[in-house]
Amino acid sequence: MLTLQLVAALAAFVLLIGFAAMFKVSRATAATASPGDAPPEWIYEAEEAELTGVSVAASAPGFSGQGYVTGFDQEGDALTFRVEVPAAGLYHLVIGYRSAFGEKRLNLQVNSRAHGEVVLAASDAFTETAPVKTLLQEGANTITILAGWGWYDVDYIKLSPAEPLPGRIANELVNPNATPEARALMSYLVDMHGKAILSGQQDYKNLPWLAENVGKLPAIVGFDFMDDSPSRVERGTRSNETELAIRWHRQGGIVTFVWHWNAPKGLIDEPGGKEWWRGFYTEATTFDVAYAMSNPDSEDYQLILRDIDAIAAKLKQLQDAGVPVLFRPLHEAEGGWFWWGAKGPEPAKALWRLLFERLTYHHGLNNLIWVWNSISPEWYPGDDVVDIVSFDSYPPPGDYGPLISQYESLVSLVQGRKLVALTENGAIPDPDLLQAYGAYWSWFCTWTGEFLTGGSHNSLEHLRKVYHSDYVITLDELPRWDWLQTR
Ligand code: CA
Repeated sequence: MLTLQLVAALAAFVLLIGFAAMFKVSRATAATASPGDAPPEWIYEAEEAELTGVSVAASAPGFSGQGYVTGFDQEGDALTFRVEVPAAGLYHLVIGYRSAFGEKRLNLQVNSRAHGEVVLAASDAFTETAPVKTLLQEGANTITILAGWGWYDVDYIKLSPAEPLPGRIANELVNPNATPEARALMSYLVDMHGKAILSGQQDYKNLPWLAENVGKLPAIVGFDFMDDSPSRVERGTRSNETELAIRWHRQGGIVTFVWHWNAPKGLIDEPGGKEWWRGFYTEATTFDVAYAMSNPDSEDYQLILRDIDAIAAKLKQLQDAGVPVLFRPLHEAEGGWFWWGAKGPEPAKALWRLLFERLTYHHGLNNLIWVWNSISPEWYPGDDVVDIVSFDSYPPPGDYGPLISQYESLVSLVQGRKLVALTENGAIPDPDLLQAYGAYWSWFCTWTGEFLTGGSHNSLEHLRKVYHSDYVITLDELPRWDWLQTR
């Protein structure tokens, strides 16, 4: 009996040591973890990994273990870690590094598949990257660092189980007078959170192509108030986007509008990228949003009001026709390439508030769900004027990754209380990866032209997989709006 107990204890001890050795445990381990402890984490030293075209050094101070790996200066240079995890699932991967020659980027591969780019902020001393969420299989996995921009040193990698983000989506709209149609649409989107992603396609004219080649129609169609901008109408543009949106609504679809807002004045109108019809681009106009927003008596401010009022008339037609609108003005503000984002966050946020207040309270537009489209907290206009946050994604062609870091940045931006949408995309994320990563984008909306039909951003096979996935909602699967509203 005593002998058996001793053997059992010895076996347990050996197992524990083996477990620790396998994971190169540095701090708390799964074996010693108890409620309240920090989650386990496992460190793998770079100097013990497989080196390709790189070498071990120990001259810079402050590294972990016996040294670090340096000499990432040629394409093909690589560092491969063989790691083991106890269960399949999501892990946070952190890289210990130094980058003495400014900000650099490396390319990551997990189990020989591309896993995106990791930014290494400039640092003379050894430091760590932000965590990268990584899906690993049970047991052995490989994690490979490819040189990318090169000229950095890698000290170690660290893995820990990824905790789900906290938060609960609030089923409410910032406009207290929202129409029953807008409320019904929001309720439906909240209901679908985590269960499905709605398919979307920019530009109504793409629907026949989708029907013919993919065999399904999207749940959402993206429209654009671009040609309703007064500085374009003055030059002869005509738009039937509002009429098409009403038609789409009557077909049972969901409507989203963006507004490529041609600057109210100051169009440079020169060939080579500054033509009047490119007047929403910063480079094509002299219009100064900071001046306009800080001078309410100026002509510039009055022209902003004129333009908002022109769009209000279109939105009123939609409201009168019972159409709720996922409304996304001032998109990609933080990019700076559109005039409304050209002078930094403050005028952009002030303009957003002006839009919200004028459309909601002056024009009585209650059919709008307000979709903000920048990630950075310093650009965020505030919880009281935003219903949904979003990101526009144009990855390399054929990159069907789940965009988990952008998704989680947006979840953090709103403390998990608002929906997060992929409001424009080139390549559509793979539905299987969206579920595996818990990247619960509310909808996607593929941009028009080659992004849909060119075959490289999205292969036809991929489009068919997406549109026929059980995780993807298409037009034929949407509920009837009259039923939703009487629920
Ligand atoms: Ca090291």
